[in-house]
Amino acid sequence: MFAGAAHRLGYRVAVWDPDPDAPAHRIATHSFSAPFSDHSVRDLFVRTVDAVTLEWENVPAELCEWLEGRCPMRPSGTVLRILQDRIEQKQYLSSRHLSVPAFAVVESRPQLLSAVDHLGLPAICKTAKSGYDGKGQWLLRAPSDVREVEPILDTSKPGHRWILEQFIEYIRELSVLVVRGESGAYCVYPVVENRHERGILRETHVPASIPLDVAEKAMELSKQAVAALQGVGVFCVELFQANDGSLLVNEIAPRPHNSGHYTLDVCTVSQFEQQVRVTCGLPLGEARLLSPAIMVNLIGEEVRSVTSREGACALHSTAGAVLHLYGKRIIRPGRKMGHVTFTAPSAVTAAETARQFLARVLRPA
Ligand code: ADP
Ligand code: MG
Repeated sequence: MFAGAAHRLGYRVAVWDPDPDAPAHRIATHSFSAPFSDHSVRDLFVRTVDAVTLEWENVPAELCEWLEGRCPMRPSGTVLRILQDRIEQKQYLSSRHLSVPAFAVVESRPQLLSAVDHLGLPAICKTAKSGYDGKGQWLLRAPSDVREVEPILDTSKPGHRWILEQFIEYIRELSVLVVRGESGAYCVYPVVENRHERGILRETHVPASIPLDVAEKAMELSKQAVAALQGVGVFCVELFQANDGSLLVNEIAPRPHNSGHYTLDVCTVSQFEQQVRVTCGLPLGEARLLSPAIMVNLIGEEVRSVTSREGACALHSTAGAVLHLYGKRIIRPGRKMGHVTFTAPSAVTAAETARQFLARVLRPA
């Protein structure tokens, strides 16, 4: 999606993804599929490009720092290093007085038990690095859940760390895209509401149906979080609105985000075009919302329901529905294969159309 936006603005794109089957290779002008650890490829890659960005936060920070010394790298390796590790990230934000769920660092079984004593249950134990879509997380509601996690800690590699977080009883989950340019200019997108199923984003409601003052606070908090990082690039700040109304930062992604895919269809400038602009040092675009929308992810086998003849006809005859398939060849449970944006003149109509799609097409009785 980044490459698509870049092509539209007249750029050519070099893609480095170690998976030779990654869909972006198919539309790249130059393709690199060596492991990121292959030093011989680094030189060739950096000679090929004028600027670098990323769409996956687990690119080795060390590689990004190396690139940063040679060409514009947005976001920076330094920011990436902080955000790649849930512990570093939460410590960084809380040391700058930004609200995050109460947490404790866990490196061993005894530390888990004392962290549970300290924070109480329910709590969530998350691997510090490389988790996504709820993977590498355990919800601990009762002491028996804690006992189930203990052996996992015992059998992990030395040095592996986890974070135990207080489970936030929230009213809703929100997210805000914040784009920050090299000069410190900001562009903040509307606040959206996210609904998850088993840790995976199911749908995003645009805009979030929240009072204006909550939306303003969410945007301000998100902006402050990106400012604290001195981040340059596209960031998505995931928030909880807790039961007492307060807002907490859950996590920050240093890249375009699934909950921002709606911007492709209903904003003047999409999150991907913003990423192109920031990377190439152009002025930031306008984030004006042109229509309410609901984005529904197509997860795993669900994608078949819109690629069958019947499903495709049902979807394409739905007013305001826009389909995006990612071209991933292999379907795996929990893998995001595409999404549909339901746009409508009113949020109520968008919600009703999305609800009918979920009931009739994705989950027929
Ligand atoms: P990732 O998106 O990288 O898998 P998250 O930390 O965002 O990891 O967790 C995934 C989802 O799990 C969140 O969107 C939220 O629904 C739930 N979750 C995570 N942490 C908490 C928490 N501290 N309290 C309540 N729910 C949580
Ligand atoms: Mg998340």
